[in-house]
Amino acid sequence: MWEYAPAPEAPQTARLRPSYGMFVDGEFRDGTGERLKTVNPANEEVLAEVSVAGPADVDTAVAAARRAHESVWGPMPGRERAKYLFRIARLIAERSRELAVLESLDNGKPIRESRDVDIPLASAHFFYHAGWADKLEYAGFGPAPRPLGVAGQIVPWNFPLLMAAWKLAPALAAGNTCVLKPAETTPLTALVLAEICQQAELPPGVVNVLPGEGDTGAALVTHPGIDKIAFTGSTEVGKLIQRTVAGTGKRLTLELGGKAANIIFDDAPIDQAVEGIVNGIFFNQGHVCCAGSRLLVQESVHDEVLDKLKRRLTTLRVGDPLDKNTDVGAINSAAQLARITDLAKAGEAEGAHRWSPPCALPDRGFWFPPTVFTEVSQAHRIAREEIFGPVLSVLTFRTPDEAVAKANNTPYGLSAGIWTEKGSRILWMANRLRAGVVWANTFNRFDPTSPFGGYKESGFGREGGRHGLAAYLAGADDAPRGDNR
Ligand code: NAD
Repeated sequence: MWEYAPAPEAPQTARLRPSYGMFVDGEFRDGTGERLKTVNPANEEVLAEVSVAGPADVDTAVAAARRAHESVWGPMPGRERAKYLFRIARLIAERSRELAVLESLDNGKPIRESRDVDIPLASAHFFYHAGWADKLEYAGFGPAPRPLGVAGQIVPWNFPLLMAAWKLAPALAAGNTCVLKPAETTPLTALVLAEICQQAELPPGVVNVLPGEGDTGAALVTHPGIDKIAFTGSTEVGKLIQRTVAGTGKRLTLELGGKAANIIFDDAPIDQAVEGIVNGIFFNQGHVCCAGSRLLVQESVHDEVLDKLKRRLTTLRVGDPLDKNTDVGAINSAAQLARITDLAKAGEAEGAHRWSPPCALPDRGFWFPPTVFTEVSQAHRIAREEIFGPVLSVLTFRTPDEAVAKANNTPYGLSAGIWTEKGSRILWMANRLRAGVVWANTFNRFDPTSPFGGYKESGFGREGGRHGLAAYLAGADDAPRGDNR
């Protein structure tokens, strides 16, 4: 057996500082909240101290965003706004190595993913939306679409910089100003993005970044000076936010959880499908809202798929996120590890069969091995609840109708995957699956031009593409949004 020599990126590339301020009105300052420590989930060492925004800081940031919207950003011609977005995109690309290492340190994801997925896509979102900024009147939302005003944006910890880019780029392109709250466990790359806004000479107040926990997010949601809330995170908090903004006139988009079915037919190219299954659930340690966490395999190929999958999983390398050979990194926090552990225990207690490849986990940090559950029934918690970890539940089906019925048997509706040789079957299935995104013979592909969003408890509204602009333009309510039926 050949072993891989260690190939770590140097942590110094991240240019980590001992402390970070919040970003308000174009400058970094101390917040009035109690500072938080952000840790490296791979070894539990403190990376940095970060200022936390209290309610007074939310006031200041919203006021700065309002001033910037009324005095500069709103009235600015789209072609001028575009230049700033292009600049931000280029600066993200120029600082991509630093950002990738910082993201892996703060989040625990493998450097291979932050380097090849998170950071290039974040830059691509700014590039793409820079292109829209001067063409909004041709986007199909009327001859003179107007921005909404000030957007409050709350993002989770699973793709910290990428989610910030998903939120900021369309909002800015459409002429809104933003107050962004990164997740408490992963604030660092959003603060470097704030620095990039400074470098790009974005007018003060156009982008504000307020680190903090749920109460900072709640202060943003309830603030009367906010015109729109864009939230990505748990369904539970999403519901709370929806109740809070009801009747206030604030516009709202919610991108929440998922429990996607990845469906393998017996005519699928099995080796490619196995790669798709691995990418579907072990990418980013399964901390992916659209993860293919329920594998639906046609009964006739069940044994073959499972054999090949298990063989493939024994080759996954779990460990140091900064090592370029690592496939699966650390779980983002102790709390998330506890949640995954609890649900995996429930899977065993309810009678499913648990399997993991032999793999040595590091002594320190938060780790969970790639795990596959077979003999899963639809009633099991591991088949119904979002685990948000590297845990796959395997179910079987006999006919396409049964596959559709099982795939749709979930309160969520974010994504689905279909693996088959037949184009007609792909279209037949895609028409029946209640999911915002349906991948065919691939999984977890993202592109700024392609709208992303959910049905049912996965939320409503779209991010990306022309549809994503609708969320930030007045009078564009008729644009497609998730229907909650
Ligand atoms: P969360 O919903 O608690 O947090 C997401 C963001 O919302 C964070 O920035 C958080 O500080 C903020 N927040 C928390 N409470 C708030 C409130 N009352 N008002 C406003 N903002 C608030 O999610 P989490 O703790 O990061 O993860 C918990 C679960 O959420 C996961 O296990 C997973 O199921 C799901 N999740 C989904 C996604 C997704 O992309 N759909 C991303 C992360 C987590």
